Amino acid sequence: MEFFDKAEFFSKEEIYNTQAIRLKNTVYQATASRFYRGKLSMAGIKVSDIKSHEDVKKLPFTTKEDLRENYPDGLLTMPVDKMVRLHASSGTTGAATVIFHTQNDLNSWSDLVARCMHVSGVRPWDVFQNMSGYGLFTGGLGIHYGAERLGCLTIPAGAGNSKRQIKMLKDFKVTVAHIIPSYALHLSSVFKDLNINPKSLHLRTMLIGAEPHSDEVRKRIEEIYGVKAYNSYGLSEMNGPGVAFECEHQSGMHLWEDSYIAEIVDPETLEPVPEGEMGELILTTLCRQGMPIIRYRTRDLTRFIPGQCPCGRQHRRIDRITARSDDMIVLKGVNIYPMQVEKVLMSIPEVGQNYIIELERHGFLDQMRVKVEIRDEYFVEDMRILQALQKKICGLLREEILITARVDLVEHDSLPKNDGKAVRVVDKRNQ
Ligand code: ADP
Ligand code: ZN
Repeated sequence: MEFFDKAEFFSKEEIYNTQAIRLKNTVYQATASRFYRGKLSMAGIKVSDIKSHEDVKKLPFTTKEDLRENYPDGLLTMPVDKMVRLHASSGTTGAATVIFHTQNDLNSWSDLVARCMHVSGVRPWDVFQNMSGYGLFTGGLGIHYGAERLGCLTIPAGAGNSKRQIKMLKDFKVTVAHIIPSYALHLSSVFKDLNINPKSLHLRTMLIGAEPHSDEVRKRIEEIYGVKAYNSYGLSEMNGPGVAFECEHQSGMHLWEDSYIAEIVDPETLEPVPEGEMGELILTTLCRQGMPIIRYRTRDLTRFIPGQCPCGRQHRRIDRITARSDDMIVLKGVNIYPMQVEKVLMSIPEVGQNYIIELERHGFLDQMRVKVEIRDEYFVEDMRILQALQKKICGLLREEILITARVDLVEHDSLPKNDGKAVRVVDKRNQ
């Protein structure tokens, strides 16, 4: 039978009832781990204190440092021989953290990923190419098992090797691809070099995620490939992909509340923010047995989108992740998020597919240098034209971030690129 998870259309009441039962189970299960046994008893929490989904607020937070300090197995609720797989975070912000899974954990994770793909219109007859790195990164196997669970012919292409990616897209008539947005932009220049129009393929849908990106980047991807691109959010501590996903309306990501309890708090006070306001996303696993995590501080900044989604699904939606709280650049006393820079750059037609922000120190003065690739057709010999473009970019950036950045225009395809998550900011101030 075709994959369908009835939880996708749970009513609010069904969601809350499921949360209450699963939260109680999770707390019970968690006490079997060294870490939570200590943490919960310090906080004076007993399993019998958990009666409703609201009771999550009584529980203590868990941080990335907690995971690091208890590396590798302090959060396991069972002997390691009950585990069947482990994954690690990409290590974007320091030492990687490791998450273990039982077979049940993997099954419920695959169901979640299959559900995500289902809401974005992917069906068993689709041919699916997974272009994210395999290995410890969850975007590989995590998405892979979900796609197979849904019933798609699944091609484990992995990251990089762009020419081969394009050959597979063509040869196997791929209809759906999972790809990191910065790589999707880069891949478009390989299409150009090969003189192939990406729109001549069979691609209909792209699932993009794993790194912060602006709506301008999504629009570019949709335009270049002639597809619909759906935003996918997840983090390895919460399994990986499968936490929140856009539906056909592409208006924020439904966070699967039967499987996670989500809160948004002020990152300073840790108090809930008013409905619809930005804050740090806090997540509690509800379906993980081997290594449950309670009130995890994701450090990702977002907000709940108020109101109903036209699709009728009751799982609340989170907005595009603006940034990680630790991504914020403080320059000359002004707070800037890299995403603000990206939004400006990607809305300028002359700007190509890659950019990098460098922070420099000259004497006592901090400076932001933005290196921007310019599309081939605009990269002309005429200095006056380039200077005018540089001035335009500088002006638009100033309007958004309130400081004057130095803008270097560079040739298309000349900035360093990654197969995995893009590195957008290089801080050279303390070198
Ligand atoms: P690391 O934290 O080392 O990068 P992960 O691979 O677990 O390891 O990455 C999870 C993080 O990636 C999230 O916490 C978030 O910051 C980012 N991320 C994942 N998906 C998205 C998305 N759709 N939009 C923005 N950021 C995302
Ligand atoms: Zn919806």
